[in-house]
Amino acid sequence: MTSGVVKSLHGNVGPMIYDLVVVGGGINGVGIAEDAAGRGLSVLLAEMADLGGATSSRSSKLIHGGLRYLEHFEFRLVREALQEREILLAKAPHIVWPQRFVLPQAAGGRSGLLLRTGLFLYDHLGKRRRIPASSALDLNRDPAGWPLRPELTRGFAYWDCRVDDARLVVLNARAAADKGAVIETRTRVESIIAVDGVWRVTLKGRDGAREVRARALVNAAGPWVQSVADAVDARYAHAREPLRLVKGSHVVVPRIEGAEDAYLCQSPDGRVVFAIPFEERFTLIGTTDIPYSGDPAAAAISPEEEDYLLDLTRSFFSRPPTRGDIVWSYAGVRPLYDDKATDDASSVTREYRFELSAQDGVPPLLTVLGGKLTTYRRLAEAALLKLAPHLPPMKPAWTASAPLPGGDLGEGGLKGFIVRLCAKRPGFDPAFLGRLARRYGTLTDEVLEKARNVADLGASLGGGLSEREVNYLVAQEWAREPDDVLWRRTKCGLHMTADERLAAADRIAKLL
Ligand SMILES: Cc1cc2nc3c(=O)[nH]c(=O)nc-3n(C[C@H](O)[C@H](O)[C@H](O)COP(=O)(O)OP(=O)(O)OC[C@H]3O[C@@H](n4cnc5c(N)ncnc54)[C@H](O)[C@@H]3O)c2cc1C
Repeated sequence: MTSGVVKSLHGNVGPMIYDLVVVGGGINGVGIAEDAAGRGLSVLLAEMADLGGATSSRSSKLIHGGLRYLEHFEFRLVREALQEREILLAKAPHIVWPQRFVLPQAAGGRSGLLLRTGLFLYDHLGKRRRIPASSALDLNRDPAGWPLRPELTRGFAYWDCRVDDARLVVLNARAAADKGAVIETRTRVESIIAVDGVWRVTLKGRDGAREVRARALVNAAGPWVQSVADAVDARYAHAREPLRLVKGSHVVVPRIEGAEDAYLCQSPDGRVVFAIPFEERFTLIGTTDIPYSGDPAAAAISPEEEDYLLDLTRSFFSRPPTRGDIVWSYAGVRPLYDDKATDDASSVTREYRFELSAQDGVPPLLTVLGGKLTTYRRLAEAALLKLAPHLPPMKPAWTASAPLPGGDLGEGGLKGFIVRLCAKRPGFDPAFLGRLARRYGTLTDEVLEKARNVADLGASLGGGLSEREVNYLVAQEWAREPDDVLWRRTKCGLHMTADERLAAADRIAKLL
């Protein structure tokens, strides 16, 4: 699609008025853009930095119902999230992986009865086709007990899914672009005014500023929702958005010895911390819940948060990690919907809400508040349902059964696909192909093209990254900076030494 004309279901080729402009390329923005483009609307999405560069790549990386939310009686949310877990597992089996969670029963923690009741509900609230049921565990006998302290003898096992969160965002953007959406990264929405019933949106990118027009606008700016609301023509200003910013941090350490399952560690104050297998040889530990009021882009883990995470793992694991083991950490800011029900940051609802303003003569503006990675697809459907009366006629909802790019793995799922890939490309190390399959699924063939072995992929940049892969990420996935490649579209940065990272960043910069 060119920047001068747009095609839409109802208007064919016409002047540049998009049906929908989406502000923000986090999971919610790309999900809405993808759904809308697939329904025949003309869509532009503007992301001021990188796709998924903010909250959506700083999560605990789980597609989960949220066992903990049952305590707050959030049954609707948990049911919807459990349903989405099944749907996403089918849509994106290359980047969504079932994971067993071990929940040790700790002194001072929740009672066995409470845990059993919660898990019973968790098993039955949503339909399970691909995910096993929960069970009780004797930690003295089950291998899951080996990494744990000897006094932890009883517990439970249940299943959820892990996800590559940054790739979930990029693949939704790819799907949106494949359906005709224009995706502009490093492009900030600076001002929004209404003229003659149409939004005029000023975009500032690396090549300067320009204006686009839109019949409707979505503010999916996550923790920046208020600053985008402030960029809207003051004539349409409304009350402050009911938003609560809550920081959450994680640390990454070498794999805790024997911890091949994920563990849910209960803190005596009722909070929980996950220790989750991460990137083959690491463990991801998080998260915290700290009220936040600064610049979301500047959020960083504090020494107190590190202590909290390490202290809690110490009371569960026989060989817990220490501060010196931390190889990476990150912090994100949850843009939660503030229903004023609680003062406790960890108890604020994870439900999503919309605010729709569509006064007479003023085009519609939909603001997205709250949500989770897990429920982004349902959020997108609900957003379009809200906007439908203000938009041209649309095709029906379609995303529930459509695979994300690379997700059409065929018989045997991910395992079957990797076996076939290795048979087809015998010149490659099977472990390397497995890693690519978990990133690109069936698009692995587009990354590798006719290469017969790793030497055919151009220069090696370290951490398993090749020049060919970087070129693919630039051409197909909007990679524009070294970090887009090293920390988001891949996690190769984690598998490099500090010197290797610097050298790789230098070489990537030359390929951009
Ligand atoms: C610590 C933590 C752990 C979490 N764990 C999980 C989990 O395990 N599972 C789960 O389901 N959910 C989890 N979540 C929740 C989930 O990550 C968020 O709900 C989700 O990522 C929010 O996405 P978003 O699109 O609303 O916001 P974001 O991802 O922040 O996207 C908003 C985007 O808008 C862009 N933007 C802002 N202003 C402008 C502008 N003026 N112009 C253009 N672009 C702009 C920003 O650059 C940003 O990329 C977690 C969250 C946190 C913080």
